[in-house]
Amino acid sequence: MIYLVGSGPGDPGLFTVKGVKCLEEADAVVYDRLAPEALLRHAKPATERVYVGKKPGKPTMPQEEINGLLVELGRAGKTVVRLKGGDPYVFGRGGEEALALIEAGLPFEVVPGVTSGIAAPAYAGIPVTHRGVSTSVAFVTGHEDPAKGHQDVDWKKLANGADTLVLYMGVGRLAEISASLVSAGRSPDTPVAVVRWGTIPEQRTVTGTLEDIAERIAEAGLNPPAITVVGDVVALRESGLDWFERRPLFGRRIVVTRARAQAGELSARLEALGAEVVEFPTIEIASPEDFGPLDGAIRELDSFDWLIFTSVNGVEALVERLKFHGLDLRTVSRGAKIAAIGPATAERTEALGLRVDVMPAEYRAEALLEEIAGDSLAGKRVLIPRAKVAREILPDKLREAGAEVVVPPAYESVPSSEGKSDLAKRLEAGDVDCVTFTASSTVENFVRAIGEEEAIHLLDDTRVVCIGPITADTARERGIRVDAEAREYTIAGLVEAVTDLFAADPAERGDP
Ligand code: SAH
Repeated sequence: MIYLVGSGPGDPGLFTVKGVKCLEEADAVVYDRLAPEALLRHAKPATERVYVGKKPGKPTMPQEEINGLLVELGRAGKTVVRLKGGDPYVFGRGGEEALALIEAGLPFEVVPGVTSGIAAPAYAGIPVTHRGVSTSVAFVTGHEDPAKGHQDVDWKKLANGADTLVLYMGVGRLAEISASLVSAGRSPDTPVAVVRWGTIPEQRTVTGTLEDIAERIAEAGLNPPAITVVGDVVALRESGLDWFERRPLFGRRIVVTRARAQAGELSARLEALGAEVVEFPTIEIASPEDFGPLDGAIRELDSFDWLIFTSVNGVEALVERLKFHGLDLRTVSRGAKIAAIGPATAERTEALGLRVDVMPAEYRAEALLEEIAGDSLAGKRVLIPRAKVAREILPDKLREAGAEVVVPPAYESVPSSEGKSDLAKRLEAGDVDCVTFTASSTVENFVRAIGEEEAIHLLDDTRVVCIGPITADTARERGIRVDAEAREYTIAGLVEAVTDLFAADPAERGDP
């Protein structure tokens, strides 16, 4: 079976439930440049992935070859998903592919997608029809197939043939197209909007009229892919319908320095507020060099009175190691109490099946210590599975209180500088609005990756936001100016600090 599936316009949330099901079943996925790569995670790891979009410097795979590939995969008895941007039958050549499959006698189904010609305007605040303003809409290609030699689009008829015209492709031809529409009788004052990369954080909208839109696009340096909307509905955007672009962090490019495995939550929250996130994982989580101490602690796991988790990684590493030894949580002493340093750690601990007894109101080692000091610690055994290099304050204080503390390295944070030159370039170009730090180690590794002098210089022109006072102090010690600190030392608190910072200073947003 070959499924011709529309990927939607870019926002992975605009993919259909049926599309997800097809991807889950697929043996092979053949996908285009405009199909969001994030969707491929729905496919099984073993699924063959074939990219047939344009690669820099190389031509697109000719349509006949794509058809041939689909036929070949189909004949091999595979379940194939042909994933295409937007809707497969709207300027997507899906019809040609279906015809080729029929000719080859292969079964196929079509899964429509949300087309960019409706979605991009919607995200830019433009309903393509609107009572009293527009009762008809035409989808038009702005890109004539050069091989045809004659014009298929009848601009004369179209000019006043529909209230709203939605043009796919052809941003570079906007001057000719506008002129054709005006000479065919459409008013030069007709509002026009061009929406580039609609529905994703990189969305940009430029508006004008048929008379000046080409010039405005050129000034803004707006590149494809973009949808052009012509008609009075464009003006509705000004009434506040442009919800997507009004979100508090829209147009802001924000750097997340957490380890890739942990960046997810912070990135997702920032993106939900409209930011474009650049992940620069300055650390990666790795196994400890030596599992000896952790294995030793696991052997006597039922002898501990307290289990203290100081990070999500710590809990995960312990549970992972138990699994490695063929053990599970039954190895944890029934009498042991469990403490977590903050809500994220507590949530993960509970998700893994361990109830958390204590979590301090303030997410710092010192506060945790105060909470559990109520429990007499003399002679108690405490286990803290944590990073190989970590602050000593918690174990030290526990020992002072008479506890016997075991601190086995459960994981290691290793510095990473992947993507460094790219980030340095963006910082240098002033392309980054804000850099976030979620731990002292992220500051230190950032400085290590970029270089001390260079880091201070590059961060001078961007905002720096830290998760709390300890991280901020580390930054200042390194000569980095800190613009804001989270009031609550959590990811949510950090996001709030970033949002407040930009609300207080609505400077120019991104480009153009
Ligand atoms: N089948 C697709 C269209 C493919 S033609 C669909 O239904 O959306 C390619 C053109 O689609 C691009 O040149 C651009 O005009 C438009 N396009 C696709 N995705 C877009 C997006 N996210 N934002 C703006 N335009 C987009």
